[in-house]
Amino acid sequence: MKLVENKVALVTGASRGIGRAIALRLAQEGANVAFTYLSSVEKGEALASELEQYGIKAKGYRSDASDFQAADQLVTDVVADFGKLDILINNAGVTRDGLLMRMSEENWDTVININLKSVFNLTKAATKIMMRAKTGSIINITSVVGIRGNAGQANYAASKAGIIGFTKSVALELGSRNIRSNAVAPGFIETEMTDAIDGKATEDWKQSIPMKRGGQPEEVADACVFLASDLSRYITGQVLQVDGGMLT
Ligand code: NAP
Repeated sequence: MKLVENKVALVTGASRGIGRAIALRLAQEGANVAFTYLSSVEKGEALASELEQYGIKAKGYRSDASDFQAADQLVTDVVADFGKLDILINNAGVTRDGLLMRMSEENWDTVININLKSVFNLTKAATKIMMRAKTGSIINITSVVGIRGNAGQANYAASKAGIIGFTKSVALELGSRNIRSNAVAPGFIETEMTDAIDGKATEDWKQSIPMKRGGQPEEVADACVFLASDLSRYITGQVLQVDGGMLT
């Protein structure tokens, strides 16, 4: 028996990076996978057929996670197409880095809306379905930066710290309904998001990590599969760091 066989999962922001790895890993473990993308249309459209090679049902939706109405419609569409929703993975995220002195209101709002408001939007819509089914696992992708803060990322750190408070509150509110809510906090993971950081800074980061290397998207995906599956059935309200010991 595969770890999430016949469950239905929705992953936001799966066209690239960590979200893509999560969608693939869930499919390998037998889940039917609904996923979203926004600007990477070709990559998003190509993913569905890649996922179907694992013998599961997959469908991509072009949907902006920061849009409340669109998130509600997305969940309605996923349930219409797949029949149910067992697992929600809120992964969509962006950075707009800069020191506070130079940070524009627009860059603050963009990051808070895409990273944090999206988690509210999708979770609110999904829990309506999960409460009726009396089962569900919600996994929110936060960051070590949300735990520790980071110079030049006040907007991003605030959004990721907000996700942690939200995750724990939902765990407290919905535990009695058998809905679990956990966060995964990746450290330095090698994706297009971290490609944007200059080479010297990347090397400094790696040297500060006890395991002396960046993580791979698949290593975050493995933690998500654990939290999505019944292997973690008595775990809720937690933040699982996948960071090679960075904050230890
Ligand atoms: P990435 O390679 O830049 O991918 C980001 C994904 O989010 C893309 O698929 C993008 O889709 C999607 N997205 C962006 N805005 C969206 C929106 N409004 N609605 C729906 N989807 C949207 O980033 P990543 O490194 O894989 O990061 C994934 C998550 O992990 C993020 O939440 C990030 O904050 C978190 N994280 C990453 C690291 C790291 O080191 N990489 C560390 C800690 C936490 P389109 O391209 O189709 O628009």
